Amino acid sequence: MNSSWTRSIQYIKGVGPNKANLLNKLGIFTVGDVLEHYPRRYEDRSQIKMINALIDGQMETFKGKVMGIVESKPRQGLKITKISVSDCTGVAQLVWFNQPHVKKKYQPGMEVIVSGKVKIFYQVEILSPEIEVLNGSEILDTGRIIPIYAASENINQRFLRTIVSQVLNDHQDICEILSNKIVNQYSLFDRRLAFENIHFPQNMEMLERARKRLVFEELYLLQCSLLFLKKQHRSNYKGIKHGVDGSLSVQAQSQLPFTLTDDQQKVLSEVKCDMEDVTAMQRLIQGDVGSGKTVIAALALVKTVENGYQGAMMVPTEILAEQHYKTLSELFVPLGISVSMLTGKLTRGVREQVLKNLKDGLVDVVIGTHALIQDAVEFKYLGLVVTDEQHRFGVRQRGILQEKGNTPDVLVMTATPIPRTMALTVYGDLDVSSIRQLPPGRKPIRTFVRGSERRQLVYKFIVDEVKNGRQAYVVCPLVEESEKINAQSAVELYEQLVQTDLKDISCGLVHGKMKTADKEAVMSAFYSGEIKVLVATTVIEVGVNVPNATVMVIEGAERFGLAQLHQLRGRIGRGDYQSYCILCSDNKNPETQQRLTIMTKTNDGFILAEEDLKLRGPGQFFGTRQHGLPDLKIADIISDLSIFMEAKSAAEQTIAIPDEFNCIRTALNQRFGQDIGMIFCN
Ligand code: ADP
Ligand code: MG
Repeated sequence: MNSSWTRSIQYIKGVGPNKANLLNKLGIFTVGDVLEHYPRRYEDRSQIKMINALIDGQMETFKGKVMGIVESKPRQGLKITKISVSDCTGVAQLVWFNQPHVKKKYQPGMEVIVSGKVKIFYQVEILSPEIEVLNGSEILDTGRIIPIYAASENINQRFLRTIVSQVLNDHQDICEILSNKIVNQYSLFDRRLAFENIHFPQNMEMLERARKRLVFEELYLLQCSLLFLKKQHRSNYKGIKHGVDGSLSVQAQSQLPFTLTDDQQKVLSEVKCDMEDVTAMQRLIQGDVGSGKTVIAALALVKTVENGYQGAMMVPTEILAEQHYKTLSELFVPLGISVSMLTGKLTRGVREQVLKNLKDGLVDVVIGTHALIQDAVEFKYLGLVVTDEQHRFGVRQRGILQEKGNTPDVLVMTATPIPRTMALTVYGDLDVSSIRQLPPGRKPIRTFVRGSERRQLVYKFIVDEVKNGRQAYVVCPLVEESEKINAQSAVELYEQLVQTDLKDISCGLVHGKMKTADKEAVMSAFYSGEIKVLVATTVIEVGVNVPNATVMVIEGAERFGLAQLHQLRGRIGRGDYQSYCILCSDNKNPETQQRLTIMTKTNDGFILAEEDLKLRGPGQFFGTRQHGLPDLKIADIISDLSIFMEAKSAAEQTIAIPDEFNCIRTALNQRFGQDIGMIFCN
């Protein structure tokens, strides 16, 4: 790629240190970033109308001559500026409130082009229109298809349009990065034409082709990165060749309190087969909540220990680390396998000891949070790395843990159900195994939507279930994506419940802002059944397993996406008892009601994921939080599926031919090197 692409925006005319700072806040640092600050949407202002043909309430564009400018101050603090513009069919009044600077820019006699929402009431009026003087220079704001960018208070649309246009004009050298062969084969716009038309489209058709080219490029580069990763794992390095199952593995399996389902059995043999092979395993296990993924990981860990290696399992929350530590200890300790836990909250002394034991090979299996990927963590001989709830981690984090061993086998697990084609993008470097079946004896969870008029009955129901020996969760409304505020809301809900509806029942509270020790105390009291009702934020969303819990009440359910509701609901229905999920919501918006109703109709995570996609669009569902991939700037993994398939086959061609791959290394490093955490060099 050409050097000006990475040059700082300070070199752009009109961008001083001050503006540069403000642009940085929008994520724009380099010339390339300016071009990749794609419009969020467009407004078609290319249809120029006569004034007498303007329609009330519509966004319209017209040309005319400035006739007069008047300013009035009807009262203190209010200044109204009016500019009248006419063409041969009529007069329109352009109106601004408290923007006295506009009058300085226009003078009677000037030819202007105006866009805005028309109001017709005695006269034609447009409030705060976009207006541009026709003086022969390039028109950016009206009279054409106009880009609308993500902007900020101090960086407005016009400024963005101006610098984008300047970059396009000054940098004639926007280099092509795709090979001619690919550009021709897929009939793509060349790169420069694509950038011109994505920002200032000549017409809708050109816009579409420009977008296609840029989407293709992005997905192609992503696929090349992922395929490169995969290829490296497969061919460059020899992995660990685990032996066939010995007595320890056999014993572990016979000690399980249940028999594996057919799906579990099948996935387990795929995993073992990979482990026994000399190339390093790179496998994803996809299985709906409650399908029993943990046991597969446990048996794989036993296998690596049996072969003289250490195993590590990384999970996204402390609560989950704690839980897996307990479950796995029950299985491992009788087999003589030593297990430790490593989270960020250990006291220094304990932590040092764990680190030392790992390094000396005295610990066989370690369960931990992100704390596992810190520099200080070293293993003696790491043989297997498991990441649970992989969608909460990035590709990069997975990579770091892996690098702590000498090409260990890698197993990742997720409950986020995604269509197969999507799995190819998101987990393009992995082989995929699926568990579709739930363990036997599970009764489908019954789900209800209830308004606050029935709230007392809902809590009465909890009391009844508790009297029958069961336990329950109450999830507080998601106030916003801030654990601090959500914690407050959980505290309030808890205090209210223990004084009213649940006053005779032992309740616990858990949220992300609590001290680790307090959290642990509450969770273990809930595991042991001492606490009957757990009031919580979404910290319990992933992984928590208490089969005796049969009720999940979600307050303010409309605040959650379907995928998240499904994850939360996955905390119940994990044992033999009939379980109930109650979604509380007073939001009568038909769309919300429709969304919540879907929850009552199906327990299938796959169907829910697709519904969620339809209702909320991919942006929400497949936010980075859901899949841990680098942010895509223009492509939409769902709706751009057909471009994706083309990009994927192009990437496969490129990867197969070293010379062609060499040509895109720079582009790969620039676009995805940092996110994926590797350098695409020889
Ligand atoms: P997830 O896939 O959501 O991680 P878990 O591994 O936590 O699910 O398993 C959910 C529950 O199902 C656990 O209590 C586990 O002991 C139980 N379980 C797993 N496999 C089986 C099986 N084959 N038969 C019966 N119960 C099982
Ligand atoms: Mg799990």
